[in-house]
Amino acid sequence: MALLDLRHVSKSYPRSKGGLRVLEDISFAVEEGEFVAIVGPSGCGKSTLLRIVDGLVPPTSGDVLYRETPVHSINLECALIFQSFALLPWLTVEANVELGLEARGVKPADRKRTAGKYIDKVGLDGFEEAYPRELSGGMKQRVGLARALAVEPRLLLMDEPFSSLDALTAITMREELLDIWRSPDSSVHTILLVTHNIEEAVELADRILVLSAGPGRLLADCKVELPRPRDRRSEQFNAIAERVFSLIEERG
Ligand code: ADP
Ligand code: MG
Repeated sequence: MALLDLRHVSKSYPRSKGGLRVLEDISFAVEEGEFVAIVGPSGCGKSTLLRIVDGLVPPTSGDVLYRETPVHSINLECALIFQSFALLPWLTVEANVELGLEARGVKPADRKRTAGKYIDKVGLDGFEEAYPRELSGGMKQRVGLARALAVEPRLLLMDEPFSSLDALTAITMREELLDIWRSPDSSVHTILLVTHNIEEAVELADRILVLSAGPGRLLADCKVELPRPRDRRSEQFNAIAERVFSLIEERG
């Protein structure tokens, strides 16, 4: 049984909003335990696709199945992380991390305990009472990660989470993400990561879904069968990156 199964998913926005066809006939399945990357040119519908998977936005046609059940509202077993971090500036780190728990009706004392656990896990112990403006970009994204992990999702959805971080911070955070994904005590075993960074996709993912320019269509589903940790300088690594790149160049 696939954890996630998209069948002929299309999305258009109504004429009043520009009448745009964003995604066309997207079908793929994700098994529990997989790390899947989605790449494609800017504007091809990647963020829309993640919102559809999360249940935030309904597809215009087609079906999204999560553990064989159609998704019609927000999927509480998913958590979404954004490039922009999406922190509320007037709330402390702790309150930001508690947001998802609050939305799920968790009691205040339990919220505080769980938030504390995940703030420690992402290395922000001691920053509970800090405000987002006092944090670096990397620390803000750690708060975003803690907030997502705190709801103990099975499926983690990530929308270009590292693209506004400096290169060194991004390297560290990719390693930490792989540790979280592999750790047996983490709730997250399956990750869907949107990125426009092809090398990031090859470094992290088991499979890379390549989308065309808008309306986004699925051009290819490339398996990455390289052992981890992956060496960006190796011939096999570059062969895969070049294949993905040329798919987007030719038909993106
Ligand atoms: P990507 O993440 O690949 O850059 P998006 O999913 O953000 O692409 O957007 C795909 C297209 O859909 C863009 O042209 C964008 O302007 C349009 N779009 C996204 N959300 C909406 C919306 N709520 N209403 C109208 N158009 C939208
Ligand atoms: Mg986007």
